[in-house]
Amino acid sequence: MPVSEAAKDPGALPPGRTTLSELRRRPVRELPGVGPRVEGALRELRISTLADLVSHYPARHEDLSNVKRISELRVGERATVFGRVVSTKPVGRPVRGRSPGFSVQLYDGTGYMPATVWGRPWLQGQLQPETNVVVSGEVQRKYGLQISVKSIEIVEDRGSEDGPHSGSFVPVYPVNRNIQARRMRALIHRALAEAGHVLDPLPLSVIEAQELVNLDDAIAEIHFPTTKASLKEALRRLVFHELFIIQAALGARRERLARTEVGRSSAGDGSLLNRFLKGLPYSLTPAQERSIAEVLGDMRREKPMQRLLQGDVGSGKTAVAVAALLTAVEAGGQGAIMAPTEVLAEQHFLSFSKDLEGLPVKVVLLTGSQGAAERRENNRAVADGEAHIVVGTHALIQQGVEFRNLSLVVVDEQHRFGVSQRTTIKEKGTTPDTLVMTATPIPRTLSLTLYGDLEVSVIDELPPGRKPVETHVVPVSERLEAYEAVGRELEAGRQAYVICPLVEESEALEDVRAAEELYEELAHEVFPDRSVGLLHGRMKSAEKREAMADFNAHRTDVLVATVVVEVGVNVPNASAIVIEGAERFGLSQLHQLRGRVCRGEHPPLCFLVADPKTGDSEKRLEAMVAHQDGFRLSEVDLAIRGEGTLFGSRQSGVADLKVARLQRDIEVLVEARREAFALVEDDPTLKKPEHRPLRREIRELLGEDVEWLFRD
Ligand code: ADP
Ligand code: MG
Repeated sequence: MPVSEAAKDPGALPPGRTTLSELRRRPVRELPGVGPRVEGALRELRISTLADLVSHYPARHEDLSNVKRISELRVGERATVFGRVVSTKPVGRPVRGRSPGFSVQLYDGTGYMPATVWGRPWLQGQLQPETNVVVSGEVQRKYGLQISVKSIEIVEDRGSEDGPHSGSFVPVYPVNRNIQARRMRALIHRALAEAGHVLDPLPLSVIEAQELVNLDDAIAEIHFPTTKASLKEALRRLVFHELFIIQAALGARRERLARTEVGRSSAGDGSLLNRFLKGLPYSLTPAQERSIAEVLGDMRREKPMQRLLQGDVGSGKTAVAVAALLTAVEAGGQGAIMAPTEVLAEQHFLSFSKDLEGLPVKVVLLTGSQGAAERRENNRAVADGEAHIVVGTHALIQQGVEFRNLSLVVVDEQHRFGVSQRTTIKEKGTTPDTLVMTATPIPRTLSLTLYGDLEVSVIDELPPGRKPVETHVVPVSERLEAYEAVGRELEAGRQAYVICPLVEESEALEDVRAAEELYEELAHEVFPDRSVGLLHGRMKSAEKREAMADFNAHRTDVLVATVVVEVGVNVPNASAIVIEGAERFGLSQLHQLRGRVCRGEHPPLCFLVADPKTGDSEKRLEAMVAHQDGFRLSEVDLAIRGEGTLFGSRQSGVADLKVARLQRDIEVLVEARREAFALVEDDPTLKKPEHRPLRREIRELLGEDVEWLFRD
């Protein structure tokens, strides 16, 4: 049917066509042969509708075009064999009456060969004599040749025409013990036939511009490909689809904010900013200057700023924040900066107060642990407009602080806050400019999706004169040698951090005990002649402040601390850090912690005390030694963890990715984003008839979170 006709009345479907929405409403029960038992097994795989079934994509395909004959197999090769089951028998020593594996005798017309399967003992029952299987694995010599099985799939007779198992690529699906692989293939084959022609929710203009294959064909091919090339095209189409939906939602959000939210123009006259810059003991790096120009440019516009400032640990993001805050004040507004920890909020407060000394700017600190009287007084100053810059923790949001005229919110160390908190601090009536800062470098792929609605500024250079860190992994048995090296730094007048092993995520009592023990050891045994301080999350605020102030003023030489100092803390004279139990920390945490000693001109030293027990922790430590650059480290991290964890929960507001792999599909992502943003720029609420199927698709995939985007 010509598209123009469909466009006239998008509600009416041509005969023989269905939509993804409809498939999402049709339960699997509708398929012949699906009773309560199969339904239950499918539910465990999170499959309850026909749509779930057709989007239960194969994990891979067995390529039968590479099948070898049994008579031709050689020791040591990896091979795929297509054969018939003659018999099976258990192998290995039984544990609690169960054998750990079984052996299958195969026959393929050219010869017999045993294949050994370890694990999955329940499979044995499914491999009745005469069943056809595809087996791949390594050919070994053990009382004659045998195959050590990597994968085994039950397939139909290859002779049968047109069945779900007849092509030369056999799809291999994620299954569980309650549903056989062969059954899953048959069900999906059936569901595809039921689905027939599925209306494509992507606009025709995009499909044509990107030369995408039809949705129908893509879905069929991803399951039962005819050729390698068509499989590839099908995959590209589905990846594009998935990413396009997300990008269209992000683009729509951006359009919506730009259109409906009232912002204000904050143009400063430079009266405060210039004096601040002149007072700095250094000159800005070109990257800092560029970032400031971008931020001030946004602020000058009427539209609320939504900008992310990304810069590695120690790159000097704070100065950019101060420039923005002062500009807001020059323009007659108030600025707020939120830090994820009290320690960091205090530090910002102290350094701002010092840097802005002599300027007519009042800075106040608001944290959760302040006394009632102090807080009341601060709140009053904020509400009256007497306070120009407010530094705080998220107490700023929680306690519903009233501002007189809030025009800028800076969120420091954004990655430590939940995404939803980002927008919570809002003024009635107008939306303040927002600048979020993060040192956790976001690989390009991720910044395009998670932060797809933000403009991004990058500080891609460190201030001049910074020395590379010398990083060593030290086994626990040699940790005292690390402390000897630290002792030499102290001798030269420098300071050091010692980070306690992480006992638990939270600052539980266990951590406190570990911290106190380490403190005792260092203060009395390792550095008896030095002054050692202690800082952990369970200390009272006043004690924390004092410990930090002592270290800052060099009244203590060594600071034993938990991860409370992970982000932001800035004591340039500290040139060494020892991280105990380093194998327990994540890569970005290690990088942040090491960043504490990359802030001065002394060549810094970092000791990672660890006995890594897993391959992953070993890889993390190796990466720390090999790379200084946070961007590289975060890519390594992504590779070690896999992307799944980033989207493991819906906290990101982005639906789970089923087919797209951000690293592999970066080019598709860029294209999807470009097309999607152009589309919503032209039709922000997707209300044109030809865009309605897309709007519906976005709503169904992304849920309530996006409802507000499409209200008229
Ligand atoms: P981060 O980006 O990690 O927040 P900071 O803003 O805390 O980094 O800056 C780290 C250190 O570098 C601070 O001591 C700061 O005074 C110093 N610094 C910032 N910019 C420069 C510069 N352009 N030249 C020299 N030192 C700088
Ligand atoms: Mg910082």
